[in-house]
Amino acid sequence: MTATATSAIPNAGAAPLLSVRALRKHYVAPRRWLGRARPPVQAVDEVSFDIARGETLSLVGESGCGKTTTAKSVMRLIEPTSGSVQLDGEDLLALSPEQMRLRRRDVQIIFQDPYASLSPRLRAGEIVAEPLRNFGMSSADARRERVRWLFEKVGLRPEATAKYPHEFSGGQRQRLGIARALALNPKLIVCDEPVSALDVSVQAQVVNLLMDLQAEFGIAYLFVAHDLAVVRHISHRVAVMYLGRIVEIGPRDAVFSQPRHPYTEILLSAVPVPNPRTPTRRILLQGDPPSPANPPSGCRFHTRCPLAQPLCAEQAPALTSRGDGHQVACHFR
Ligand code: SF4
Repeated sequence: MTATATSAIPNAGAAPLLSVRALRKHYVAPRRWLGRARPPVQAVDEVSFDIARGETLSLVGESGCGKTTTAKSVMRLIEPTSGSVQLDGEDLLALSPEQMRLRRRDVQIIFQDPYASLSPRLRAGEIVAEPLRNFGMSSADARRERVRWLFEKVGLRPEATAKYPHEFSGGQRQRLGIARALALNPKLIVCDEPVSALDVSVQAQVVNLLMDLQAEFGIAYLFVAHDLAVVRHISHRVAVMYLGRIVEIGPRDAVFSQPRHPYTEILLSAVPVPNPRTPTRRILLQGDPPSPANPPSGCRFHTRCPLAQPLCAEQAPALTSRGDGHQVACHFR
């Protein structure tokens, strides 16, 4: 991979581009036959964060922790239960479906599986031109010109516009997904595990492409990933989620070099180090994650936390500042 993202957070003092507050997504389970209502599944609960222009914030955590649900709720691909999502000061959750459709030109998404997200019946050029046509670029010549420019920007040859998605490799298909996401000059791109399905060498190329595009166009990324090496490379800030809540958030270097929350420490202890002779201390996470339909009382991590004390089962720790933009939800850290 090329250089890691700089540790300086772009536009740190300015008003945030995206401001998410107390976001919740609770799924109401169907009633049992002749039984009582089941408790809702708290997939995302009281999640708050900001993203500055040109910044990458990564959401990390075990599968099922709510990171993808959070990302899709921000775009209203999943309707949140409550909370607010402000983009440039406008609350996206208050918009009508048509207003939201128009606002989507500013917020685009790249999916994990590019093949599933691209229509197999359309040629690559048509796939990338589709959002341009939907958002009013009526001239076919202008669309063709823009599509060729976008192909060049993402490292695809102009002749590839005539191909179908199945004729591309996995990495090329992800480049096609990026070109489509880029077509309308978005301010924010939600990247939902965009490199998880790719070979390691191709992963590096796609991550570097995303970073180059960010440097050129000032796009912000909400980056969902479970590969912490990739997260460390691309992020300016990192938010760690456990059972639907953010337990730690802060600048990348602070989270990686001085993790405060016990769950973050455990996650990071599993990251392989480049030099096998470097001593590492792998901490094993005990037990299975509890059900989000019946989360533990107090601190949701207390049933698996090696530092848990009686207070932890009684009181939920608030996400509290530890200075320099680093916030942690733990009574003792
Ligand atoms: Fe562990 Fe208690 Fe901190 Fe939760 S509040 S992370 S259980 S020490």
